[in-house]
Amino acid sequence: MILRTILVFALAALTVSEVNARSLNSCVAGLKKQAIRSGVKRSVANKALGNVTYDEKVIRFSRSQPEYRTPIWDYMAFLVDPERIADGKAMMQKHDKTLRAVEKAYGVDRYIIAALWGIESNYGRHHGDFYLPHALANLVCARRKSKFFRRELIQALKIVSRGDVRLADLKSSWAGAFGQTQFIPSTYRRLAVDFDKDGRRDLVHSVPDALASTANYLRNAGWRSGQSWGYEVRLPKRYRGASGRKRRASLTTWGKRGITRLNGKRLTGRRKGALILPAGRNGPAFIVFSNFNAIYTYNAAESYALAISHLSDRLRGRSGIRKGWPTKDPGLTRAQRLELQKRLIKAGYDIGEADGRIGPITKAAIKKVQKKNNMKPNGRPSMKVYKLLGGA
Ligand code: CA
Repeated sequence: MILRTILVFALAALTVSEVNARSLNSCVAGLKKQAIRSGVKRSVANKALGNVTYDEKVIRFSRSQPEYRTPIWDYMAFLVDPERIADGKAMMQKHDKTLRAVEKAYGVDRYIIAALWGIESNYGRHHGDFYLPHALANLVCARRKSKFFRRELIQALKIVSRGDVRLADLKSSWAGAFGQTQFIPSTYRRLAVDFDKDGRRDLVHSVPDALASTANYLRNAGWRSGQSWGYEVRLPKRYRGASGRKRRASLTTWGKRGITRLNGKRLTGRRKGALILPAGRNGPAFIVFSNFNAIYTYNAAESYALAISHLSDRLRGRSGIRKGWPTKDPGLTRAQRLELQKRLIKAGYDIGEADGRIGPITKAAIKKVQKKNNMKPNGRPSMKVYKLLGGA
C-alpha cells in the first residue's frame, strides 16, 4: 500500500510524455533482448532500436485504413490517374527485358506485376515515410497488434542480419511494408527472390529482385498463367441477383442471370467467376476470376485488387471503366490534389507546403471551405471543392 502511494505520487510528478518515454524505453529494451535471442545480430538490434521515440503519426495511421474509409471513386481516381498510366508505360518499356524474363520464369502477367509496382511504390520512387524498426517498435509498445508487429520487426532485423539489405534501407509504411513492392518482412523472408543473382534478395535497390519477388508471391497465391483477372460487365435492368467475391458461379450461370459483356455478348462457359459491385448496383460491375483473388491477398481489400487490375488494363492500352461511378462529386487525381492544396494556400489557408497528400491539416482546411459553401464538412478532397477553389 505504501509502495503504491509512493508510486502514484512519483508518477503524478511526471508529465504524460515522460511516462510514455519511460515505458517505451523499457519496452524497447525488452524487444532488443528478444530480437537477439531469436537470432538477430546484436549490433543490428542495438543500432536499429537505439533512440526510439514516441511516434504519434504511426499510432494514428494504425487506427485508420484508407481502403475502408475512402469512397471507391476517390481511391480509384487517385491510384489509377493519367500520370501513373503514363509512368507505367514508360517504366514497362525501360524494364521490358526484366519484365519479360520474370513473366517467363513465373508465368505471371507482366502488366499485373508492373501495376502492382506502380501502386505500391510509384514504380520504385516512394518506399514509405517511416523507419521500420522505430515504427514497429512503437506499435508493439502501444499494444497495437503487438504479437504480429513484434514478429515482423524481428523478421526485418533478420533480413538485415543476413545482409540482404541495410538498416538504412528499411524505409517503410507505418505497418512495416518495405521495398519497391512493399513486402512485409515475414513475406519477404518467405517469398523474396534474388533474380539478378548477386547473392542478396534486395527488394529495395534491385528492380529485378522486386519484380520477380512479386511474381513469386502471386504464383504462390494461386496465379493461373494465361488467365485474366476479369472484366467489366453489364447488369440487366433492376438486377437483384447474387454478387460478392466469394459467390462464384460458371459464366453460363451468370449469363442466365442476364449479365453480358459490355458489347452485349452473352457470358457462356464453365469457367467460374464472381460478380463484384464495388459501388453497389448503380455503379460499374465486374466478373472476376481466381487471379483477382490472388491479387486480393496482397492487401486484403477488393478496392485494392480492382485498382491493380484496372491499372494493368490501362498499361496494356485498354480503355477505362465504361460505366461511371454513382456520384455527382467525383474524386481527384494526384495532380488535382496537389493543385487543390496550392489553391487552398492561395486562398489563405495555412496548410504548410503543398505535397499532394491529404493529411489532417489539409482536411481541416477543406472542411472550412465546405462549411462556407453549405456542403457537408467531411474534409473530402472532391471535384466540387476543387472547382469551388477555381480548379479547372
Ligand atoms: Ca539480388
